[in-house]
Amino acid sequence: MITLDGEQFGNLLKASELRPRFKLELKFVASTQQLPDSWIDIELLAITDRTGDKGLLLLQPADDLYIVPYALSRSIVDSTTGRARAIICDFCYTWQPGSNAASVTFSPPRSKNTVRFLCCGDLDCSSHVRNTTKAALVSRSQLRETMTNEDRIARLKSKLERYIAQLELTPTSSM
Ligand SMILES: [Zn+2]
Repeated sequence: MITLDGEQFGNLLKASELRPRFKLELKFVASTQQLPDSWIDIELLAITDRTGDKGLLLLQPADDLYIVPYALSRSIVDSTTGRARAIICDFCYTWQPGSNAASVTFSPPRSKNTVRFLCCGDLDCSSHVRNTTKAALVSRSQLRETMTNEDRIARLKSKLERYIAQLELTPTSSM
């Protein structure tokens, strides 16, 4: 992903169609902690508000950068057992136990449709496909997958591109 400093992120927020109070909150959070040191290996980055359950998702599967507001729901409950259910992330295809399973809902500004996907509760999909997390190791043994990291990264990118088209997102103008 292209590197964004606090000011560029602020500009990006300014241009977005979020409610003003939400923009201020995200700007504050980003100024204190959440911007990563290295942006190279990131296709998907969540900047959350203080609750951690809603925020802005930055997506950059290829050249263009997209931003979309999202809301996270952390309990995926099995309707028959009533227990938290394990999922496979719709972005990075990582198996996640109920404790780190979530669903993410997008209400894109230009679309009337709300779209929901299953996802890693930490939305750290860029790290999971690079096999740098414990969750990635657990997932690989659960799913018995033998794909290379490169193939996983390619799969994450192609999924993001498909969802971007589905949500009818338009790229942010360059900063
Ligand atoms: Zn994921």
